[in-house]
Amino acid sequence: MALIVQKYGGTSVGGIERIERVAEKVIASYHQGNQVVVVVSAMSGETNRLIDLAKAIDPRADARELDVLMSTGEQVTIALLSIALIKRGYKARSYTGSQVHIRTDSAYNKARIMDIDAARLKADLDSGVIVVVAGFQGADEHGNITTLGRGGSDTSAVALAAALKADECQIYTDVDGVYTTDPRVVPQARRLERITFEEMLEMASLGSKVLQIRSVEFAGKYNVPLRVLSSFEEGRGTLITYEEPNMEEAKIAGIAFNRDEAKLTILGVPDQPGVAYRILGPIGDANIEVDMIIQNVGADETTDFTFTVHRNDYDKAMEILKGVSRQLGAREVNGDKKIIKISLVGVGMRSHAGIASAMFKTLASEGINIKMISTSEIKISVVVDEKYLELGVRALHTAFGLDQPVAATA
Ligand code: ADP
Ligand code: ASP
Ligand code: MG
Repeated sequence: MALIVQKYGGTSVGGIERIERVAEKVIASYHQGNQVVVVVSAMSGETNRLIDLAKAIDPRADARELDVLMSTGEQVTIALLSIALIKRGYKARSYTGSQVHIRTDSAYNKARIMDIDAARLKADLDSGVIVVVAGFQGADEHGNITTLGRGGSDTSAVALAAALKADECQIYTDVDGVYTTDPRVVPQARRLERITFEEMLEMASLGSKVLQIRSVEFAGKYNVPLRVLSSFEEGRGTLITYEEPNMEEAKIAGIAFNRDEAKLTILGVPDQPGVAYRILGPIGDANIEVDMIIQNVGADETTDFTFTVHRNDYDKAMEILKGVSRQLGAREVNGDKKIIKISLVGVGMRSHAGIASAMFKTLASEGINIKMISTSEIKISVVVDEKYLELGVRALHTAFGLDQPVAATA
């Protein structure tokens, strides 16, 4: 008998009819002889609605209370799905994150799962119960409710699969797998039959929100067999694999992009040891994550320094940078919130030279100016003006041979 963890995202449980359809899918898996744990998100739009309610009272609403509020979205869907299963004559039982002891740290709004007590779930499963668990939430050691960051139900599912040593973790969503890029932006995007764990990790961290990055990290750490599938149509979806790819594998697996970028520049700072630290130290102290960093070659004993942050952190970072600028006697501080990052990802890059130049050539031929570049073994990222997002991603998708073959006419 196999143990399967299935996760259904917000769109998949977006209304009563859809929840009833999820119930049918869960039952089908149960009838194949599987023990099934189901993790559900809140109905689509619900988490945003709850956040808006809090922000209407206080834009800087208390983080602990926000978690109490946001976690209710998932509490609704676990109960509704269980009601649908029980109506159909099955034994089902719903649990919130804290009830099944998904223990997290105390970082409200972005908590990390520390451990899960699987005993209660195992006992239920062994007596034939379909277990329905609220995604996106847990509780810290003092019993405070925590949430895991947007998209966190993916991580709940993978963590449960790891704790229960499940045979597969299935992420059901509104697309039928992981694509070469977001199919909403590039209609010619292709579904990947498989993608390596390393590539999926890069895609997620570079902005492909089909899986929350922490879910991929968890899957890698515990070797959880992970598959992304459609809730709405049959199919095999995309398997995340842990083997080394063969050499014939495509050079580029996919293109990720991130709209949440902003960049800040401090000009004319003294070109001396310790300057990078004096600039980025206070940014780090304010809990602002820095992504790309560029320091120019110094001229006339001064240099320029540019870095990127999440757009939500831009104002705070700018305020800090202005203070730093006064201390360092810098010439000027400026910034740009209208930038985005596009990244090519592929383990095949390791064995192929010339990917970067081909990327730059493609962007140049579309008249797209590159503002920043960063590379690693398996990815190349560029920062460009946000107005070039669609054009840039589509041009690269075609140039690297990722477009779906045009259907042959019969
Ligand atoms: P859920 O509510 O089921 O968690 P999400 O909206 O979080 O769904 O994730 C699914 C969405 O991810 C898709 O609708 C798609 O627009 C987006 N997406 C971004 N990049 C990709 C990609 N490379 N492959 C598939 N989907 C992607
Ligand atoms: N409901 C939460 C969110 O919208 C978690 C999730 O859907 O994964 O971010
Ligand atoms: Mg999601």
